[in-house]
Amino acid sequence: MYPRLLVYVNKMKENAEILREKLGNLGIEIVGVTKLFMGHPKVAKMYKDAGIKILGDSRIENINRMIEAGINGDFMMIRIPPLSRLKEMVDIVNWYLVSEEEVALAIDLMVDRPVHLIYMVDVGDLREGVMYDKAVEEIKRVRKKLKKARIAGVGTNIGCFGGVWPTNENLKLITDIAKAVDAEVVSVGGTIYLMAVEQNMILEGINQFRIGEAILLGTDITGGREIEYLKQETVILEAEVIEVKRKPSKPIGSMGYDAMGRKVKFEDLGERFRAIIAVGEQDISPYGLIPLDNGAKVVHASSDHTIVDVTDMERVVEVGDILRFKMNYSAVLRAVTSPYVEKVYIE
Ligand SMILES: *Cc1c(COP(=O)(O)O)cnc(C)c1O
Repeated sequence: MYPRLLVYVNKMKENAEILREKLGNLGIEIVGVTKLFMGHPKVAKMYKDAGIKILGDSRIENINRMIEAGINGDFMMIRIPPLSRLKEMVDIVNWYLVSEEEVALAIDLMVDRPVHLIYMVDVGDLREGVMYDKAVEEIKRVRKKLKKARIAGVGTNIGCFGGVWPTNENLKLITDIAKAVDAEVVSVGGTIYLMAVEQNMILEGINQFRIGEAILLGTDITGGREIEYLKQETVILEAEVIEVKRKPSKPIGSMGYDAMGRKVKFEDLGERFRAIIAVGEQDISPYGLIPLDNGAKVVHASSDHTIVDVTDMERVVEVGDILRFKMNYSAVLRAVTSPYVEKVYIE
C-alpha cells in the first residue's frame, strides 16, 4: 500500500553504535530518544541492542507501548510531566526532567521508591528550565524539601526550540551550575550537542546526552547538516503518482492564501510536467521531502496533494508510478504520526 514509509532500523543501529562508542570514550552515556517513532518497539529494541540502557520519551502513551511490547527500562520522561498525568507515570518511569518546584514535590509525594530528577536549566534556547542565573538557588531550595525523589543532577536542552548552538560559554553555564549543586548527572540534549564534541568544546562533567535525530536520521537539523560519520537515508517515503500534466508553473488569476493560510510565491518557469502524488500536509511536511530522483523538485502541497516538478527527471513519469523521497525531521515526524501512511520496519 502507498504511501508508505520504509524505516531502516538496521542503519539506525549502526548510528547508535558509532555514537555510543564515540561518546562512551568521553564518559558520556546516551539516552536513546524514541519519540520520533512514537515509541515503536523495534526502535526501542534497536537502542537496547546497541547497548543503550536508558530510553527517553516525551509521552507516556509511547512508554506504555514499549512496556507492553516487553521492552525493559529505564525510562526517562523527557517532557516535564503534566501534574494531571503524573499518576500514570510514577510506577513505571524512573527518570524525570523537571523545572518547577510543584512538579518535583508532586512526584516526591506520589512515588514509593527512589526516582531520579534532572532539574532543567535554560541556557538561552528559551524552552523549558529555570533561567541559568536563578538555577542554583532554586535547585538547593527544592532539594531540601524532597523525601523519596532525588535531584540526581541538572540538564539543559538547546537547539530544538530557539535553534541555539552549543558554545563554550553556554556549556560553562551548565557545568558551573552542576558543580555548585554537586550534580551526579549532567544531562544535555538534543542532537546539536554533538557539535560540541566534534569541535572539542569544554564538556567538563557532562556525562549524559539525550539523542534521537542523529541516530534515527543521521542529520542535525539545527546545525543544518548531515552528520558525515553517520548514515542517512534511514527513512524513505514512497508515494504514488495520481496525475501527470503539462501546465503553467505560475497560478492564473489574482491570488490570496493557500489551504494552510500561507502566501506562496510561485516562480514563472513556463510550462512544466507536474506530477501529483497522493500524499499531503496531513501526512508529510512538503518542504522536508527530498526526492531521490535527480531532477525532481517538490513544488508545494495542500492537505492531500503534493506537486512534484518532474520535467528534468531522467525517466518519464506516468500515473501509477512511485516516487521516492528522503525526509527531514519534520517530514518524518508527520509521516510517522499519520495513520494514512503504512510503515515497514526493516531490521
Ligand atoms: C526531543 C528531545 C531530545 C532529543 O533531541 P534530538 O534533537 O532528536 O536528538 C532530547 N531532550 C529533550 C528534552 C527532547 O525533548
